[in-house]
Amino acid sequence: MAYVCIKGNKIEVGGVSLMLGEISAAALSITRKEFEKMYESMSKADRLLFQNKYDLQCQETTKMINALADGGLEGLKKYDLNEGTDEELAPGYPELNEASEHLARTAELMNKYQIFQLFNMDSLEGLLNETRKYAETINDRITTFKIIKMCYNDIKDHLDDLFVFNKTILKFIIYRLMKLEKRNASEYIKAYADFTQDDEAWRNVVNPFNTPKMNYDFYDKLYMQLYPMETDDGTYVIAEYYAIETVQFLLKLDFLKALSVGHQIRRCESCGRFFMVTKGFKTKYCPTASPIDPNKTCEQVARREKRMREKKADDPKTESYNRCITRLTRMLERGSITEEQKQMLVQKAAEYAYQARFMAKYSDKELEEKLSSKNLYRECGMTPPKRGRPPKNNSSDSSGTDNGQTEKPA
Ligand SMILES: [Zn+2]
Repeated sequence: MAYVCIKGNKIEVGGVSLMLGEISAAALSITRKEFEKMYESMSKADRLLFQNKYDLQCQETTKMINALADGGLEGLKKYDLNEGTDEELAPGYPELNEASEHLARTAELMNKYQIFQLFNMDSLEGLLNETRKYAETINDRITTFKIIKMCYNDIKDHLDDLFVFNKTILKFIIYRLMKLEKRNASEYIKAYADFTQDDEAWRNVVNPFNTPKMNYDFYDKLYMQLYPMETDDGTYVIAEYYAIETVQFLLKLDFLKALSVGHQIRRCESCGRFFMVTKGFKTKYCPTASPIDPNKTCEQVARREKRMREKKADDPKTESYNRCITRLTRMLERGSITEEQKQMLVQKAAEYAYQARFMAKYSDKELEEKLSSKNLYRECGMTPPKRGRPPKNNSSDSSGTDNGQTEKPA
């Protein structure tokens, strides 16, 4: 549970006051790789905890098929589905121990990110470690199972929420918000209304039919506390505190309230992270340390890169880089790669060229190697397109749309 209060263009949560939009920008910047690491760690616990449940589900399905074959629909109606009790489903101590270790590790990984810190993942990690310590002493397998299961559900809900929010809002930012010509609160909100309601909404808003819990929800449960409070000038006001149970709701509240006070969330063209801008500027680069060169901001790195591109190709490194960009532009024109894929490849190429030129990280030959199609595609997690005619249907929804950001592993 997180206690939240909104005052003007700020959000107060967990005792800290932040500009609206900062929390969502940080959450959106969690990369696909980082997300997968947390998700994988959780999935290891899943198999250990619920093996008995999955086995039982298999048996039940077979029994139901038999009941249907023997007695038709009437036979199936009479069939009593056995969902299993905790006593039947709880695994042994070795599995419980191992599962709780994986979950404690997942909570530890999650607690590095602000959004999960706000939901006290460290206390969950503590609970799991304590439970493991005392499990065999108290010798109560069922209670141990119940506690670990509860922690598992919390972790899974939080991760699913991050996935749903990021995947949905990422599309909104890249394809709608950042394309706006006029930039003010009303335009942002209109863009959001179109995004969630127009004919394309069904493919943009994450709403899988088969997993009812993994939705981008349009309704959220809210507890509100009306709290009398003295302000700085000595007057008394009723402050509205929201008690929020889900990561998704906190993110939506922060993001949508940010839009309504005229804050934008933009994506940095250099590092791909998201950042908040309080005014309607078309800022391209984030003001934080560049992952390419930590001593410079993305803005400074971009300026240097621009100079490098504009300079005549009088050295082998610039030549290599320019050739690579020409190649990628041609690939895009031929339809072998999408705009998003090109962006990702150019970003990677620029990173190598920058590090070779300004940080002496690669020799001329090494840079040429790094910029080769084979290496560049592999580094971006893509297969190099086959030579010859490109595929006819190059939908914008193909891989790479999310540009390496949060994506649930298959
Ligand atoms: Zn940046």
